[in-house]
Amino acid sequence: MKTIKDLKNIDGKTVFIRCDFNVPKDEDGNITDDRRIRGALPTIRYCLDRDCKVILASHYERPEPGVYEEKYSLATVVTRLKTLLKIASNISLAEDVVGVDAKSKAAALETGDVLVLENLRYEAGETQNDIEFAKELASMVDVYINDAFGACHRAHASIDAMARLFDGDHRAAGFLLSKEVNFFEKTLENPMRPFVAVIGGSKVSGKLEALRNLIEKVDKVIIGGGMAFTFLKAQGYEIGNSLVENDLLDEARTVMIKARKKGVKFYLPVDVVVTPEFSEHGISKYLPSQEIPKDWMGLDIGPASSRLFRQVLNDAQTIIWNGPMGVYEWDKFSKGSLKMSHDIADTHATTIVGGGDTADVAQKAGDVDEMTFVSTGGGASLNLIEGKVLPGIEALKS
Ligand code: AMP
Repeated sequence: MKTIKDLKNIDGKTVFIRCDFNVPKDEDGNITDDRRIRGALPTIRYCLDRDCKVILASHYERPEPGVYEEKYSLATVVTRLKTLLKIASNISLAEDVVGVDAKSKAAALETGDVLVLENLRYEAGETQNDIEFAKELASMVDVYINDAFGACHRAHASIDAMARLFDGDHRAAGFLLSKEVNFFEKTLENPMRPFVAVIGGSKVSGKLEALRNLIEKVDKVIIGGGMAFTFLKAQGYEIGNSLVENDLLDEARTVMIKARKKGVKFYLPVDVVVTPEFSEHGISKYLPSQEIPKDWMGLDIGPASSRLFRQVLNDAQTIIWNGPMGVYEWDKFSKGSLKMSHDIADTHATTIVGGGDTADVAQKAGDVDEMTFVSTGGGASLNLIEGKVLPGIEALKS
């Protein structure tokens, strides 16, 4: 896969950069985590330093195609970009994606100008991977750059169809995308050992492929979060009303047997925080995993599990972490996840944190700067751990 540095002669060209500006916002519409915007800056600056005219495009959440609503606009992203790039006067937002306004503003771009197109998903063609829509986008530029790691697992028009319209000398990955892919690929192919995978989150089903792939590569697996209960039940424990996928009990047993056969150490929580109802405000207590009452549920790992897991991580040289240890969104059940983040950050290992919820935990814990790499893509990073080729990367290589 070529990166932008491999492209000769982009000086002065009009460059399209597909970014992932799908950033989280609070209820007042303020951006709460701008890592994805900051992550795109090296590629944008690289182009500006080469006198390019830059067109940025991204989706933001899931608007109804054709319905322009303020809450889905990229206006707040443009404001943040102005602050981060410190070139406020040269950045503008098009009122549409491939309409009259976008096209006229694109045609009027001068050296060093940045134009942000409106939310790509205002156009139905984006999620349909529509070639005609891709051609409209491509007609505005000379060079195509994909720097939207977080969107690369989706074969959408700006990710897939559009990339295929450019030849190998006029399309490449941006710095963020190539960094993400390199980190995951290198780590999974050639990790320093011991290599530990920490897997959490709600369901086994969402992470089963990743687990299967990781068992082949790691030395130890730590399981936490809601998915731990399917494994505990598969071992015969009473798990009360905790999250469980009964249809995956056999699969969970198979994974544990495979781990044992391969000599991979497999760790489950030894204690949990239990509560009688799925609520932030009910009573709760710590109990050993063997003692979960019939009508209670586990919503976090307990302190003994945290101590055990810290011990397991102690000699790690590489750690991949994907998924929180509990319902971290509620303070009461966030300790296990925050502690896990601190413990991973405290090691001397190469630490790779999956995007989405896991990155959110690391951010809440204040550990982002201590990690070797925090991914900007939840689904995309999980797909890489599963060993899949992302559609966005395939298109760049095609
Ligand atoms: P995932 O998207 O699969 O990584 O799952 C993340 C979600 O799992 C978060 O929203 C957590 O609140 C949730 N979660 C973690 N542990 C539990 C648990 N013990 N019971 C229910 N949900 C959980």
